[in-house]
Amino acid sequence: MKQAAMDVVRYGRLLYERGLTNGTGGNISARVGEMMVITPSGTCKGMLEPTELVTVDIASGKAVSGTPSMETPFHLTVYQERKDVNGVVHVHPRFCTLLACAGIEIIPGLTPEGLMVLGRHVPTVPYATPGSQDLASALRQKIKHADAFLMESHGAISVGKDLKDAYYRLETLEFHAELQYRCLMLNKGGPLPEAEIKRILRN
Ligand SMILES: [Zn+2]
Repeated sequence: MKQAAMDVVRYGRLLYERGLTNGTGGNISARVGEMMVITPSGTCKGMLEPTELVTVDIASGKAVSGTPSMETPFHLTVYQERKDVNGVVHVHPRFCTLLACAGIEIIPGLTPEGLMVLGRHVPTVPYATPGSQDLASALRQKIKHADAFLMESHGAISVGKDLKDAYYRLETLEFHAELQYRCLMLNKGGPLPEAEIKRILRN
């Protein structure tokens, strides 16, 4: 539990210092057995202390103590549906959020790196009120099909085999969203040819 708490603090600080989250936005969690360690409600992710983090039972959703992030429902959904996932990052990075507000889908196939880290598709989760069961249900429909998501008119989610993996994926997602935005501004660029995408993904 202690290691998971230290990881949440470390990656929270990295997200904040690299400008991937701001103010008190976003929330991150790590699985520890039957429990998850998650950031508390309304805190800056760059200034967390391990003792502030909240432990929540994944099956029941009950917090051991304290007030967990308002987005606890969708973090629970991820761990319930994906036994291979042990870390979840949700933030509102500027280019992901820009595309999510503009209704523009991410195109991972712009670069080989995008395909390898993000997979063939980055689904967009339809809008639902933050913190709601509706939002958790909307993510539940998509979570088995990808490891990175835009959230319509809201932000982004990434998951990984551990929190480090989820963090790297989020960084790549935001890099890709910026690249795609700049290609749109230049009115140039596009996905790699389908044969090359298949070669990279080996399917
Ligand atoms: Zn959010």
